[in-house]
Amino acid sequence: MSFQNPVFIPGPTNMPEAIRQACYMPTIDHRSPVFGKILHPCLEGVQKVLKSDSAKIFIFPSTGTGGWETGITNTLSAGDKILAARNGMFSHRWIDMCQRHQLDVQIVETPWGEGLPADKYEEILKADKNHTIKAVLATHNETATGVKSDIAAVRRALDAAGHPAMLFVDGVSSIGSMDFRFDDWGVDIAVTGSQKGFMLPAGLAIVGFSDKAMKAVAGATLPRTFFDIGDMAKGYAANAFPYTPPVGLMNGLKLSLDMILDEGIENVFARHTRIATGVRHAVEAWGLELCAASPDVYSDSVSAIKTPEGFNATDIVTVAAEQYGMAFGVGLGEVAGKVFRIGHLGMLTDAMMLSGLGVAEMVMVDLGLDIKLGSGVAAAQEFYRHGNKA
Ligand SMILES: *Cc1c(COP(=O)(O)O)cnc(C)c1O
Repeated sequence: MSFQNPVFIPGPTNMPEAIRQACYMPTIDHRSPVFGKILHPCLEGVQKVLKSDSAKIFIFPSTGTGGWETGITNTLSAGDKILAARNGMFSHRWIDMCQRHQLDVQIVETPWGEGLPADKYEEILKADKNHTIKAVLATHNETATGVKSDIAAVRRALDAAGHPAMLFVDGVSSIGSMDFRFDDWGVDIAVTGSQKGFMLPAGLAIVGFSDKAMKAVAGATLPRTFFDIGDMAKGYAANAFPYTPPVGLMNGLKLSLDMILDEGIENVFARHTRIATGVRHAVEAWGLELCAASPDVYSDSVSAIKTPEGFNATDIVTVAAEQYGMAFGVGLGEVAGKVFRIGHLGMLTDAMMLSGLGVAEMVMVDLGLDIKLGSGVAAAQEFYRHGNKA
């Protein structure tokens, strides 16, 4: 691996130098107003990125996975019924976590490569006349398959059924890089982490709670200590955490939020769409296909690319690392060996992306795939050279 090359894994993502420096700061008193000057702008900035006026934001020293745990343990009780679709490794892991917390998960098995089946959700919610389902889980962007789901459609399914279940959304690989609308979509809990769209090292779980989710906390009896949002809220009121906060990471997050909001959140999304579209043109020029089944579910933060039958897609990742010092993502779970992934989120430019596509091409030719050097790069160039359009 070369430290000179950008990474093209779907998280952790490349870090802007200014963010690295912001994380590397002298020790301060983490129970003082000085820390408050880092904490409160982070809470306000995250709220803006979520497009919410009222979500309560909590930031824990953890990762996205800890964000899931924060969501469920603060609002649910053992035996509570949950509705979730499984369409990739991340939705699978979230379901597994719920089961380990003694939640009763009704799983809608969904082909890997497809989005969440909102129509199926609606059917199940309509049939649940006694409203036993307490929460619906939705993975906005399945990082394993490069599939984006329509969260607005899941909200419509809940509304069409007149069902009061809460809507929990995993936005770990979408928030900060793809459009996310906490208020418009009626999201009750949104979960993300620091190391994807926010361009930071791993280490923060970032969650938003709606008023409805906040109201559910009092009756929720799942055990929680480290991830107790009540303790965290009391800490925030005194410019502190209940324990020691990762001050440097939070200082980095403050800058990351400034950078995203200064670029303009819609511009950030458009940049991701443009870069992703260039990647998709390259994939097409290579004669390969995405794992994502149709254009409406194409992710703008990661592409999972299918390789021909009998070829081990993981070899691409191995050779890229060994020969060219560049990182791509392996296939996970059901699609292990069948796809390789190009992460294209966070701090990325057209030029950086072209370097990734160029290396991917060399590796595939090295491994004997029937691909012409320069074909994918040229297709992306042709698209990028027209400038700032999606
Ligand atoms: C990365 C990711 C996670 C897990 O986050 P960690 O920070 O690794 O705990 C969860 N869900 C999705 C969709 C992800 O991309």
